[in-house]
Amino acid sequence: MSAAVAEAASSALLPVYRRPAPVFVAGSGSWLEDDTGRRYLDFTSGLAVNALGHGSPVVRRAIEEALATGLIHASNLFRTRPAEAMAEWLVAHSFAGAVFFCNSGAEAAEGALKFARRWARAASGLESKIEVVALRGGFHGRTMGALSLTDRPDFRDAFAPLIPGVRFVDPREPGALEAALDPARTAAVFAEPIQAEGGVRPLGDEGLRRLRSACDAAGALLVLDEVQVGLGRTGRLWAHEAAGIVPDIMTLAKPLAGGLPMGAILLADHVAAAVRPGDHGSTFGGGPLVASVALAVSRAIAEPAFLAEVRERSVQLDRRLARIAARPKVVEVRGTGLIRGIEVRSDAASVVAGALDAGLLVCGAGPHTVRLLPPLNVRADELDLGLDLLEEAL
Ligand SMILES: *Cc1c(COP(=O)(O)O)cnc(C)c1O
Repeated sequence: MSAAVAEAASSALLPVYRRPAPVFVAGSGSWLEDDTGRRYLDFTSGLAVNALGHGSPVVRRAIEEALATGLIHASNLFRTRPAEAMAEWLVAHSFAGAVFFCNSGAEAAEGALKFARRWARAASGLESKIEVVALRGGFHGRTMGALSLTDRPDFRDAFAPLIPGVRFVDPREPGALEAALDPARTAAVFAEPIQAEGGVRPLGDEGLRRLRSACDAAGALLVLDEVQVGLGRTGRLWAHEAAGIVPDIMTLAKPLAGGLPMGAILLADHVAAAVRPGDHGSTFGGGPLVASVALAVSRAIAEPAFLAEVRERSVQLDRRLARIAARPKVVEVRGTGLIRGIEVRSDAASVVAGALDAGLLVCGAGPHTVRLLPPLNVRADELDLGLDLLEEAL
């Protein structure tokens, strides 16, 4: 931690994050403003959360309308319309037959793990079918179950023992996946279509199809974690769409409710059929306020014209990043749509700090990858400006 960072940090917040000095007080579109009035172009989008940018009128209107009902929360003991409408929207726009709402990406992974084991025992009649295969380089969250599926020694080691029955395989090693799956033991495979925290590493369409067929061969569920890359980030509504496959379970969270905390677990009919009343629960999940906002945000993102714009910005990024990829400091450029990783020879942290000095917010993804996550509605001129600032930082 630099002296400036340490000095600026409040000692009342548990220091699990190393935050840079600026204190943000306002936001508008792709921009954040600090308490000195300096403006920064935000290519982190609150970690892929603020998909419609800061101060989005869609989000504001949905919050205001929801507040006007006076119904922020009623608990899951009772029916409320927004949760039902949001679940129906997700079912109508995906492979899913039913949806469970929670409050974060990690919670969605926890629930998916429970539902996968519930289904596997019921479907097979085998007590042994409880194992999960997860991928090297994957990230599913920081709670104990989600962390058990996350392949990052620096995140895990201090907290062992984690839950048993998880095996890691390298998705790029030929035959490793097929060898790790066992019809008598494997309940599910967990994977991100693009490993985001792990360095922006796409599995690729062929990789996703291989996962699907390995799961089918072993009678295991394919659980796709689209917490970061789902809901438009790739230029399609779901990241798995391009591969022409569907998962059995999908987890969502980050952009779902426009900055309010919300997660969702989407279950195919056959998985949903194995879940019984009382199997799982959440006090806050799918409350009327967050569900109303989620419906407004999801509808806005799913508009064909909106997704077409995301793909246009993606083409613009392709062009600019091809030039950046040729720089001597850059090892490789990865990703698609509006999630991109630039692997550098130096520390990613030094590039992130340089970009901040230049007025651009970006984040790391592992030690050597700089990650770009602009809002999905970033303007063409803002995208160009951001890449100018990034080139300056490089
Ligand atoms: C961020 C993230 C999570 C964890 O989400 P939280 O809301 O921080 O718990 C899980 N999976 C992926 C792919 C993520 O990017």
